[in-house]
Amino acid sequence: MKLELMSILFPKSIDMEGIGTSKSHDAITASDVQTILSYKKLKEEEVNLILAKYFDDNSARTWLLKYIKSRTLEQSEVFISEQAVNPNFILTFEEHSSLAMCLWLETLLHACPTCNGVGIIKLSGYITNGIIKCEDCVAGVYVWSDKVRQRISGLNKDKYEKAKSFYNQIIDDINDIETNALEKIQ
Ligand SMILES: [Zn+2]
Repeated sequence: MKLELMSILFPKSIDMEGIGTSKSHDAITASDVQTILSYKKLKEEEVNLILAKYFDDNSARTWLLKYIKSRTLEQSEVFISEQAVNPNFILTFEEHSSLAMCLWLETLLHACPTCNGVGIIKLSGYITNGIIKCEDCVAGVYVWSDKVRQRISGLNKDKYEKAKSFYNQIIDDINDIETNALEKIQ
């Protein structure tokens, strides 16, 4: 995906053969990408999401965490608004923060950390020597199940069940930002 984006954004300057050898696109910085994305009339949130997701840009990733926290705060005891998606459940300050962290990771983390995005795990030992399929992902892409989200967010089962629709709403909104951004880039 990053390579596709790079070749769309920098059709002439990119040396496709050099990619992965570290000599090629060192010269292209996040700020170059940002400039091109602004030419394409992407909004600030769209630019930041693309930079955070596909260009590992730290300040864009910080922006994304702040955006997500502002959303989870809407449902917290600190600031429970009339527009709350689900007024029947309220997050404590700590829960809002850890739910935001989980959402942030889900947005950014695609390669499975268990198998390093390979999809298989090599076992060593006299009896178990061999290769098994990784159970946390599909072909290296991490599977964000309810179980994983609940574990990472640290919410108890009851609270997580109540948080689900709210959580999915934020994921959908982030996906919408990305879809709009990619449509402008194509
Ligand atoms: Zn895996």
